[in-house]
Amino acid sequence: MTIKIGIPRGLWFYDYYPLWKTFYEELGAQVILSKATNKHILDQGVKNTVDEACLPVKIFNGHVMDLKDRVDYIFLPKMMSVYEREYICPKFSGLPEMVAHSIKDLPPLIDVEINFNKSRKNLDETIYQFGYYVTKDHGRIKRAYVKALESYAKYKDTIRRGYLPMDGELKDYKVSEARKKIAVVGHTYNLYDSYSSMNLLKKLNENHMEIIVPEMLDFSVINKYAGELDKKMFWSFGRKLLGTAMYLADNKGVDGVIYLSSFGCGIDSIIQDLFERKSRREGKIPFLLLTIDEHTGEAGINTRIEAFLDMIEWRKKHESNLSAYG
Ligand code: SF4
Repeated sequence: MTIKIGIPRGLWFYDYYPLWKTFYEELGAQVILSKATNKHILDQGVKNTVDEACLPVKIFNGHVMDLKDRVDYIFLPKMMSVYEREYICPKFSGLPEMVAHSIKDLPPLIDVEINFNKSRKNLDETIYQFGYYVTKDHGRIKRAYVKALESYAKYKDTIRRGYLPMDGELKDYKVSEARKKIAVVGHTYNLYDSYSSMNLLKKLNENHMEIIVPEMLDFSVINKYAGELDKKMFWSFGRKLLGTAMYLADNKGVDGVIYLSSFGCGIDSIIQDLFERKSRREGKIPFLLLTIDEHTGEAGINTRIEAFLDMIEWRKKHESNLSAYG
C-alpha cells in the first residue's frame, strides 16, 4: 500500500517544499499537500493554537488540522538550523512539540531534527532518517535526495526569473512596461500565502508594478549587507530580510518598499525598525509597513496600498520642483 505523507502548506513550506515533495515521491510515497489557506483553515488554526503564537504558526496548525485525518504521516521536521552557526526562529524548532500538544488524534509526525550546526556525517544520517519512513534502502534514499536537490535548485532559479510560488504554485508575475518597481520584504510564508497576505503581490501585479522579493536577490549580496551590522544576526530568516532591506536602502533601485510583517514577530519588529531608520536617514525610499494578524481587514490594507502607490506616483511627478521628502 502506498504511504501517504502530508505536507502542511505553511511556514517552511514556501522555502523547501519542492525538495521534500520530490524526495518522498522519488521514494514511492504519495505526497498530499493541505489546501491553500482559507477562512476555515485560519479558524481551525486560531482555535488550536495558544493565543500568544504569531499568525503564521496559527495558520500552520490549521494546515495540520486539514491533513491529519487523510494521511499516514505528517511531515513536521524539527528545524533547528539550516546554515552553520545560525538558528531558525525558536517557534520552528519547537514546532513538532507545539503541534503535538495543541492538536489531538494526530497521525505519527516525521519530526526528524534538521541541524546544520552538527557535522556533515550528521546531515547524511538526517537524510536517512527522513527516508526510513518509506524504505531502509540507503542507495534509494541517496538517489532520491540528489533528485530532490535538483528540483529545489530549479525552483529557486525559477523564482529568481520572476515566477512567484503563490500558495505553492509558481506563477508568472513579470509585467511588461512596469509603472514602478516595488520591493516586498517579508517571510516567505507571509508573502506567498494569498489568503494571509490578502493577495498583496497579486494586487501589485494588477497595478503593473514590477515586484522584487528577497528570494530574487543573490545570496552573497544579502550576506554582505547583513554583515554590516556591528553584531552578527544569527537568525537565518532575519539575516535574509535584513540583508535585503539594507541592500535596497543603499542601492535605491526601487521606487518603494513594502514590509509585510506578522503581529507579534520579534524578528520582524527589529528588521523593519532598522530598515525604516536607515531609509529615513540616508535613502529616503518610500516605505510602507503592513502588519497582519487574524483580525486584519482587507479593506484597510487595500486603502493603504492604493495610497502608497499614489504617493509614489506623486513623488515622481513633482520632485523636480517640489520637495517630496518633507
Ligand atoms: S519568525 Fe516571526 S513570524 Fe516567523 S515563526 Fe518566528 S515569530 Fe512567527
